[in-house]
Amino acid sequence: MANKLSLKIITPSRNMFEGDVDMVIMRTMSGDVGILHGHQPMVTILDYGVLTIKNDGEERLAAVLGGFAEISADGMSILTDAAEWSNEIDVVRAKEAKERAEARLKNTQANIDIKRAELALKRALVRLDLGANK
Ligand code: ATP
Repeated sequence: MANKLSLKIITPSRNMFEGDVDMVIMRTMSGDVGILHGHQPMVTILDYGVLTIKNDGEERLAAVLGGFAEISADGMSILTDAAEWSNEIDVVRAKEAKERAEARLKNTQANIDIKRAELALKRALVRLDLGANK
């Protein structure tokens, strides 16, 4: 469609989204980037964050937990290990994940994988941030 961006979001378990939209705002490793139809081709790594899809005056929000985005002449594809629409987020599960990660990070005695716990905490915080406002 003229002046629309063709967007696909793919996770290991589903084709989460496929359609034409006005704009996508994604969280890259260097901050939020807005993409419109006609953007120059690029591949970028995604940080954990909230993805915003704007279309016809409406917004859809999703937690996207890493992966990458590829923009080509055909449109934009996001491939990620995990993503949820705001209304799919299980807030209790995210709170439990946050508490588990915080407990691991506090336990300086144990031989824990700090980076892994930090990443789990970050995923939980993104989900809580979006899930609490759904
Ligand atoms: P947990 O410890 O609760 O599994 P996690 O951050 O390790 O959290 P991920 O590995 O990011 O989980 O995701 C595994 C799968 O579970 C993905 O399909 C993801 O979409 C889903 N998922 C994880 N947490 C939630 C949540 N709070 N609400 C809805 N889906 C979730």
